[in-house]
Amino acid sequence: MDLQLKDKVAVVTGGSVGIGLAIARGLAAEGVHVVLCARDGARLAAVTAQIKTDFGVRAEAVTADVATVAGTEAVAAAVAGFGGADILINNAGTGSEETILDAPDERWNAYWELHVMAAVRLARALAPGMKTRGGGVILHNASICATQPLGYEPIYNVTKAALVMFSKCLANELIGDGIRVNAVNPGLVMTPDWQKTAKLLTEGTGQGWEQYLQKIADDNAPIGRFADPAEIANLFVFLCSPKASYCVGSTYYIDGGWLNVIK
Ligand code: NDP
Repeated sequence: MDLQLKDKVAVVTGGSVGIGLAIARGLAAEGVHVVLCARDGARLAAVTAQIKTDFGVRAEAVTADVATVAGTEAVAAAVAGFGGADILINNAGTGSEETILDAPDERWNAYWELHVMAAVRLARALAPGMKTRGGGVILHNASICATQPLGYEPIYNVTKAALVMFSKCLANELIGDGIRVNAVNPGLVMTPDWQKTAKLLTEGTGQGWEQYLQKIADDNAPIGRFADPAEIANLFVFLCSPKASYCVGSTYYIDGGWLNVIK
């Protein structure tokens, strides 16, 4: 299938590793020029250079914290250098661990800024340009936890649920301008962060970190394994394509069967 994405311009927040990097590479493989952002500039610069080499597209690294106003402004400035963007992937995010009774306001605010306000500010900054270009696509990487919460991370669950509702409201506001907005809710996705946590938690316990992760997959996902980031990226890339032209204002689960209800 020709996804008709060649020479589009995409922004991927958190594009330096994990799902974001897989999306960036998936888009670049379709001929999309990419603007990537993350806080660790060295890691970001390395993967951006590799994308240029591998796919021959324009790729720019923006070292920025998207949870701040200055960070989203830096992304918008880089996009201006491309003459605007056609695609925005709000992917940067991270898990949390707390109890509601113990977590201070600052912790709630930090996740709100990262998971919700980054998307709000980038929509305000980039959607007008998409409209001038004749339309665009905005995708939000939320989580299955937006609907089916994990007990140890209430702030993550709540802010990701807010992101999904933001996505719906934005979709209604922008579809008249030809901008399609959707959310994606992945389940378990094998990223370096999961591996690092598993190694930490199993150190000295006699249990291998791979076994630890396999048990999480067995206990939760009927498919019995984590997804590879590329499996998630494939859905994102399709949703960016004009071939997904009737996909508007929805939330797509991609979770190996983990969601425990029909929706
Ligand atoms: P990773 O931790 O592997 O990557 C996160 C990316 O976001 C990195 O590029 C990181 O770079 C960047 N990032 C984090 N915070 C910021 C910030 N404040 N400003 C700019 N960039 C930032 O995460 P995953 O690939 O696992 O997750 C990506 C998204 O998918 C997240 O939103 C996550 O909640 C969601 N998700 C993940 C699942 C999983 O099982 N892995 C399941 C469901 C949803 P740097 O640290 O250098 O800033």
